[in-house]
Formats: sequence, C-alpha cells, structure tokens
Amino acid sequence: MKCWICGDEGTTGEHKTKASDLRALFPQVSQKNPLYFHTDQHKNKKVGSIKSDTFKFTAPICAYCNNSRTASHDRAWECLSRFLREKRPPIKKGDAILLNKVFPSSVTRSMLDVHLFFIKLFGCAIVEHGVPIDIAPFAEAILQTKPHSKVHLAFWSASDMGTGFSNMETYNVDGYCVFATWFYIVEPIVVNVMYAEPNECRQGLIHAWHPKNISERLLIGGC
Ligand SMILES: [Zn+2]
Repeated sequence: MKCWICGDEGTTGEHKTKASDLRALFPQVSQKNPLYFHTDQHKNKKVGSIKSDTFKFTAPICAYCNNSRTASHDRAWECLSRFLREKRPPIKKGDAILLNKVFPSSVTRSMLDVHLFFIKLFGCAIVEHGVPIDIAPFAEAILQTKPHSKVHLAFWSASDMGTGFSNMETYNVDGYCVFATWFYIVEPIVVNVMYAEPNECRQGLIHAWHPKNISERLLIGGC
C-alpha cells in the first residue's frame, strides 16, 4: 500500500486522536486500567495502551511522512491543544484566544502547521472511508507546506462530548463531495473540521478559520 501523501511504501497509521491528547486526558492507561473505545460498529472495546492500532487510521502513511515531514504540524497542535485544555479560567464560548501567547513570534507559521495537522487527519479519513473528495490537494498542502484552500477549522468549547473523532457527514452532488464536516474532540475543545467547495454557504463556516485569514485572535464558539 502506498503512502497517500508522497507515494512511497506506506507502513504506518496516523493516530485518529493525537497520542499526546490521549495521554493528557488519560494518563494512567494500562491493561489493568483500560480505555473503552466506541464506534458505530463496536461498543466498549477495551484498549490497554494508547499506542494501540485501535486508535489509528488504516490509511497507510510512510514513516517519513508520519514522523519527520509532519513533526512541526504535530508539535503546533500539541502546543495549541495544551494551551486550550489548561487555560484558567477554562475556555468558553465567546473567548478570543490571543495566539501570540500560544505561539510567541510565530503565529502565522504555527497556525499553518495546526491547519496542516488537521489536513493529515482529514486525508487519512478520506482515504480510509473512500470519501469522494480529491486527495491530491491534501497531499500537496503537506508536501509544499501551504494551506488547502477548501479546508476550514472552527474551535468550540463544549463539555459532555467525550473524547475522540466523530463520524464525517458529507453532502455529495453528482458523486462528488461538496461539503464535509467532522469533529475532533478533546474535552473541553472541539475542533470542527470542514471541507467546502467555494459556493457552499454553510452555517458552520461563519466563525471558521483558515490560514488565509490569519488573525492574532482565535474566536471560540460554543454549542
Ligand atoms: Zn509518505
């Protein structure tokens, strides 16, 4: 199986929820103290290690793309995720996060890296589930360190949504996806990741963020 990013032999799988996010929320996971993993197909699947393949996409990525090539993307998300999770008082709807507190003197580059972290997850989900979205621009964005023009992120604060990765809802026209939306959830943060063709006017896009519209403030939505 080929790596969907660079075309080399793909031998690894990306974590659906980043291992550092899982470790932060579940520091004591072991065989004796397992997590319980749920999908539409499986309920209460016991998992005794955060490194388990249960938490990974089956879409193949080569070791270089999964590690070296995307290391700065992973680090940027790790940094923003920690800041939002540990913020006191806790984040809430209407907050405006000052990004230069998270990424002193590197807001533009680091937020592009955050965008590219979600491009990697989104690409893995598209390949794994055969979603009718062209994967080439996702690979190009990562290979060329540039934004994907059709992928937007919105940050919410929410509780009681658990931790994990939602199903992806897609809207197809003539066999092609024109809008797709899914959630990456690490309480109390919810990242709504959306793919939208340019003429798609969806409510979720109103407060969404894209690297082209970089701002020093990240607005937190809520539900
Ligand atoms: Zn690769």
